[in-house]
Amino acid sequence: MDVSRRLVILGKQGAGKGTQAERLAQHHAVPRISTGDMFRAAVKADTEAGRRARSYMDDGELVPDAAVLDPVGERLSAADAQDGFVLDGFPRNVRQADALEDLLGEGGLGLVLELVVPTDVVLRRLAGRRVCSNCGANYSVEHPPSSDWTCDRCGGDVVERDDDTKAAIKRRLWLYERETEPLVAWYLAKDKLAAVDGTGHPDSVTSRLLRAVDSRIGAAVARQARGQD
Ligand SMILES: [Zn+2]
Repeated sequence: MDVSRRLVILGKQGAGKGTQAERLAQHHAVPRISTGDMFRAAVKADTEAGRRARSYMDDGELVPDAAVLDPVGERLSAADAQDGFVLDGFPRNVRQADALEDLLGEGGLGLVLELVVPTDVVLRRLAGRRVCSNCGANYSVEHPPSSDWTCDRCGGDVVERDDDTKAAIKRRLWLYERETEPLVAWYLAKDKLAAVDGTGHPDSVTSRLLRAVDSRIGAAVARQARGQD
């Protein structure tokens, strides 16, 4: 089976992961599955899972493995995710990555894209980040909505994210280094990692990501043609 469109995108907060995941998903006609959005929706709906997630998010902590695995498994088994997906925000560590491969079964993931952006660039971007409090659309000080911090998409208020306080950002970057970076080594050893330069214009970053996925799809097609799959 072709697993080349089972994608994960990794990157520090502020690396442009959300935007790029959305573009990749659109290009390949697969869903973008953002665990951050899933948890924010649960928090908004005030479900029990949401209240649990909230207490971690407020401290800049990551949601623990068990609380995230079940909803992710459920989402991946939906009909629209059967030809592939772009996972954003999960897995966060080697334990979760291992569980994800088990969950997916034969072939596992197709490719893990690591968006590489230096920390100082990320901190500068995060300071200017704004989000629609209603629909979650992303804006920034450099790219505001067209009228007075009102969302172009839904008319909601565009605000600073409440998990974007300086202390929470620093804590998340530190957690990223500690937990997520060993993931990169793990996927590299499995020949499932593509490191992509995440600096420069967002369109250039998208082109680099699409090229990385296309070359992987091309290699899979060639292998199948030779009867090696
Ligand atoms: Zn909106």
